[in-house]
Amino acid sequence: MFRESDRSLGVSLPISDVMLLTLYFFFYPLFAGLSFIFLGVLLNNEIHYLLFLDLILIFPFLFTGLLFYQSFKNLRDYALEVKYFHFIPSWYEMGLHLIRQVYYVIFVGFILTIILRVFNIIEILEPWDYLGLSIIISLGVQSYFLVKSIINKQELLSTAQEAVSSEIIDQVELNHPKSQMISEYRFADVQLPSLFLSAGVMSYGWKRNICLISRYFNWKLTDEELIAVILHEIGHIANNHIKKSYLIGGTEAFLRIMRIFCVFTGLILLMQEQTIFTLDPIFSLLFINLIFLVFLSSAFLSIFHYYRIFLAEIRADDYSAMAIGNTVLADTLRKLPSTIPSPVSYNQSSFLGFRVAILRQRAKKEK
Ligand SMILES: [Zn+2]
Repeated sequence: MFRESDRSLGVSLPISDVMLLTLYFFFYPLFAGLSFIFLGVLLNNEIHYLLFLDLILIFPFLFTGLLFYQSFKNLRDYALEVKYFHFIPSWYEMGLHLIRQVYYVIFVGFILTIILRVFNIIEILEPWDYLGLSIIISLGVQSYFLVKSIINKQELLSTAQEAVSSEIIDQVELNHPKSQMISEYRFADVQLPSLFLSAGVMSYGWKRNICLISRYFNWKLTDEELIAVILHEIGHIANNHIKKSYLIGGTEAFLRIMRIFCVFTGLILLMQEQTIFTLDPIFSLLFINLIFLVFLSSAFLSIFHYYRIFLAEIRADDYSAMAIGNTVLADTLRKLPSTIPSPVSYNQSSFLGFRVAILRQRAKKEK
């Protein structure tokens, strides 16, 4: 266990992070895409090829549908429990996410049309070439996000020079075995907007997790309150929130390839002065089905992503409250906005208010 504050974290490469991110954001969609191209060449038949894509898409469709349904139901139950009705997920939101996906695709389609027209590369392409192009574009986007996230982490880590006092860490480690999953606790310039109150865990080095806490908490919180915050962060690790977010990211990357592929295929048809209705009806049917699966899965995933941010915080609170008590955690959360320059506020309609209400409700039930 490292507790001195003189070792620089800024120069270490977060290996496990790079590996996980690369695996989920890069190789997963790459392998999926390449095997599609391989199969396309092998089948050498557009109908068979589309049929195969349709069948494959059923898995992400079911997966994202299940995630969406579960998160919808769970968040709804929490909201009903404390009568925070405006946190109940609605079909209206679902519709908005679907519209956003379509909007995004129209934008991408517009850009691609210009590129294809300028370079005049339509005639030479086979259907699986579109998929190849989709993969290249998607991997470009993924690489950008990968590099950006690593740079952000390095910047944050470089501010984390001050370790949390060993008395507090000893107290946590003695009483909470799951804390073994975190190897370091440090104060840093954690400044996250809106929902998050400036503490977090990130994977760092080889199979290690580091817990970063805003330095304001060092000055303004009591030891017990600081432990409540640390236990909340351990709750994220105990619930595998980091690993799950990579898995979601990988699925999102895969769906991005398929979205761009749908746009390409539609564009090529349009440029050959054909529409979906002038083609072989089986081809049309399979293609329409593909579009349906891709866009609905994307909307499911997008709305799940939105709900799970809330659910992850509530689950991490559950973990902390089980260890330190509902009332202690509720009071700590209630106090946090006043300790830190943050846009987050505590009031009846805020997410923080929602979290505190859940904890207070449980404290009441215990009595
Ligand atoms: Zn959290």
